[in-house]
Amino acid sequence: MKTAFLGLGAIGTPMARHVAAKSSLTVWNRTAETAATFAAATGASAEPTPAAAATGAEVVLTCLPTSREVESLLDGPTGLLAGMAAGTLLIDCTSGDPQSSRRIAARLGERGIAFIDAPVSGGVSGAEAGTLTVMCGGDEVTFARARPVLEFFGRKIVLVGPTGAGDALKAVNNALLAVHIWSAAEGLAALAKAGVKPSAALDVINASSGRSNTSENLIPQRVVTRAFPQTFRLALLEKDVAIAAEFIRDQRVASPVIQQVAELFRLARHELGETADHVEAVRLVEEWSATVISD
Ligand code: NDP
Repeated sequence: MKTAFLGLGAIGTPMARHVAAKSSLTVWNRTAETAATFAAATGASAEPTPAAAATGAEVVLTCLPTSREVESLLDGPTGLLAGMAAGTLLIDCTSGDPQSSRRIAARLGERGIAFIDAPVSGGVSGAEAGTLTVMCGGDEVTFARARPVLEFFGRKIVLVGPTGAGDALKAVNNALLAVHIWSAAEGLAALAKAGVKPSAALDVINASSGRSNTSENLIPQRVVTRAFPQTFRLALLEKDVAIAAEFIRDQRVASPVIQQVAELFRLARHELGETADHVEAVRLVEEWSATVISD
């Protein structure tokens, strides 16, 4: 099978590595050097434009920061639409927004190109292991076509609803992640100030009903150790919570908690910048409480 992959970022690169191992892959990346390095390491071929990468591919995958960047690659003589033929498929693994995905699907549909939103969860480590969860929005026929390609890097692959439903579910999932990070930081900061060691507090929480992936993995491995590795930019989580907040409002569901967390992550993005990792939101809680969540 001939495939193309556009967007070799933190998670796109390990995903594309699996695609390269199992199909004949062409890649494009905004910073061409990244694509050249990837091609040299995997045997994929690097192309100078989205159109050139998409030419001849039966399936094109995108993994970009937001739906805005996906839309920006469609048009013009070097754009995706200039390379993709009728009858091909675009799988967008960006954590996008439902409205944009519906717009993109409609534009591609006019040319006989199928579209599925297929955001992923499981992080960079899940992408490296090929064990990502993929939540898809689209119809059954398109899902059946996309599935064999998604299996290159995914383990749990689910069609959750029509176009945009994958994006909506991904945004809600990440809003929950943001709530967990912020609330765990507040609770642990208070306990630390009261003299309870974070590792002892986490040991108890993780044997109790307050546990989450944040308490079981993120805080012990990244905060208590002060390692704060860069795996998923806070700016991208802020984008996800904003999408969730808008989606929930659109559904007329009262959402004071998620709206508040969206506001907090907006503030955190402003304070910590575009390159900070998502777990570094904890640093703001620490700063405001003049304490450090570490033994
Ligand atoms: P990165 O910021 O690491 O990479 C972004 C990629 O998009 C890079 O290849 C970058 O190119 C490219 N890009 C940025 N702006 C543009 C533009 N204007 N035009 C064309 N290409 C552009 O992001 P991630 O790989 O971490 O995330 C990608 C998507 O996956 C996001 O939607 C994110 O929310 C989602 N995601 C990320 C996870 C993670 O753990 N990192 C987990 C689950 C989902 P360049 O190299 O030139 O900068």
